[in-house]
Amino acid sequence: MNGLSTSIWRGLPQAGLAAIIAIGLAMLAPDQGYYLNILMQASTYAIAVVGLVVVLGYCGQISIAQAAFFGIGAYGVAIGTVDYGLNFFVAMLIAVGVSGVFGLILGLGSLRLGGHYLAMVSISFQQILTLVLTNWIEFTHGPDGIRNIPRPRFFGLSLQGGNAFLALCLVAMVLVALFAWRLKATKLGRAMQAVRDNDLAAATSGIDVFGTKVIAFGISAVLGAIGGGLFAGGFGYISPDQFSFAESIVLLTMALLGGVQSPFGALIGTMLLIILPETLRFLKQVYLAVYGAAVILIMVFLPDGLWGFIDDRIRRNARAITLPAPKLPLLSQTGQMGTEKVLEVADLAKHFGGLKAVDGVSFAVRRGSVHALIGPNGSGKSTFINVVTGLYVATAGKISFAGQDITTLSPHQRNRRGLARTFQNIRVFRGMTVLENVMIGAERDGNDVANAPAEVLTRALAALDFVDMRADAHRMVGELSYGHQRYVEIARALAGSPDLLLLDEPAAGLNMTEKVELGNLLKRLKGHGLTILIVDHDMNLVEQVADHITVLNFGRRIADGAPGDVLRHPDVIAAYLGEPRHEVA
Ligand code: ADP
Ligand code: MG
Repeated sequence: MNGLSTSIWRGLPQAGLAAIIAIGLAMLAPDQGYYLNILMQASTYAIAVVGLVVVLGYCGQISIAQAAFFGIGAYGVAIGTVDYGLNFFVAMLIAVGVSGVFGLILGLGSLRLGGHYLAMVSISFQQILTLVLTNWIEFTHGPDGIRNIPRPRFFGLSLQGGNAFLALCLVAMVLVALFAWRLKATKLGRAMQAVRDNDLAAATSGIDVFGTKVIAFGISAVLGAIGGGLFAGGFGYISPDQFSFAESIVLLTMALLGGVQSPFGALIGTMLLIILPETLRFLKQVYLAVYGAAVILIMVFLPDGLWGFIDDRIRRNARAITLPAPKLPLLSQTGQMGTEKVLEVADLAKHFGGLKAVDGVSFAVRRGSVHALIGPNGSGKSTFINVVTGLYVATAGKISFAGQDITTLSPHQRNRRGLARTFQNIRVFRGMTVLENVMIGAERDGNDVANAPAEVLTRALAALDFVDMRADAHRMVGELSYGHQRYVEIARALAGSPDLLLLDEPAAGLNMTEKVELGNLLKRLKGHGLTILIVDHDMNLVEQVADHITVLNFGRRIADGAPGDVLRHPDVIAAYLGEPRHEVA
């Protein structure tokens, strides 16, 4: 959070400038009437839509309740000022707080529910709020709504006038948009995007996936309520139908239309959906059809929204930014193979119903060694790695890492202690650049640079240099070849300076040249003394780098020892289809 606050404050000069421009623009608007109302509506809606950018665009969580949070903000201000005589800003603060708490509670639902189920829960929340607003008449004034909501004074300055209040709304909109824009490039913002792109890889890269989702929901609800509170002051009258399910859909459409990845998309989408219907009114009867068709066409042809389209063009034309040369050492190991056991598993088991995928396996990985875990397809190697990294809960047994029992820790906690991995099926954050992917790894809490933004960048670049991918730093990782995505994954793991690197079939899917390059990379890592547990089918690769080999078959350990002995072991030869070892290779 430290990193978040420092980099957000660095945007203060831009924020000040943008706020002054916003005030200037507000002064040009008419002081009352139709156009003022449109601008007021657009600016307050936009704030709520930026909230959707955070929860949906950044964090990938579908929330169909943004109108509910908007409503909590509006009703908080209305009830607070009209019924309790509170100052506008005090009422707003309370409303925003209440909304934030409800947002966090909704986010808590993501522990057990994913994707569509969570979206359903958000719809229920939305419906419940509508019922409460309509039926709890003593508190909410019921279907009649609340009238005569006052506008505030601000440090002696009256905001009663239309222009003045619009200025407040526009300044708030600008600040909220800048906040979201800066957020995207913070540790928290990157964590959200990692969760969106690949939650398993996020967890094993040290990100608290659940906590990140909860915070995203909280921020989104807070922004929704800020928009709603200003809306109440802007129009002076609110009623339950303004915060219904249909309005949540409108807000969602605005976000998707403009481009949900960026607050600028939110602003564009909101302006468009508010201004478009107004400008099409001259079409009389057919205007709704034209409006609907326009929205559908944009969505079909620009799936990333309008801003997504513009952003893509900007990025393509951007020249590569020169990046500083790394100074920090990437790998701090001594290069000495020791007797210390970095990882020790005892009687580890993982059963899927009746299937014993891992069945009472014990062995230790010594510091500085390259330890290979081999075995036929389906022998439990990936399951073993998944249990050790915490993606699966062990059925039985104990896992010690650096002398401490980690058996019950979550994946991100294990990563924070220095356990990094890659996946058999590559798991990268496809919506982020190569550099951002690797920065996620460098930001692992507990590593020496985790909370120093400049050093995180340097460490990430050092990791990219190690796999020779610096030239691709600003490319989207989804554009890369399979082999290069694999390197990004390895660099992401290295960037956290792990004590143990687990590689699950790193050669899978690579062509011959790439396999040779990978072999060289592994030898270089070995030369630096990094402790590695490698799973692979390719005996050639294993023989080149392994100091020690453990063999699994049907979930059981059938051999463990020095490569020469293990590969001549009769059980091992039998396990590999009963054929002599040289044919296996
Ligand atoms: P390997 O990586 O050695 O090829 P795996 O660890 O992927 O083998 O699989 C070991 C066994 O466990 C296989 O029989 C596989 O079908 C089974 N298995 C793996 N993951 C699951 C799961 N999530 N649910 C049920 N069975 C699984
Ligand atoms: Mg596997």
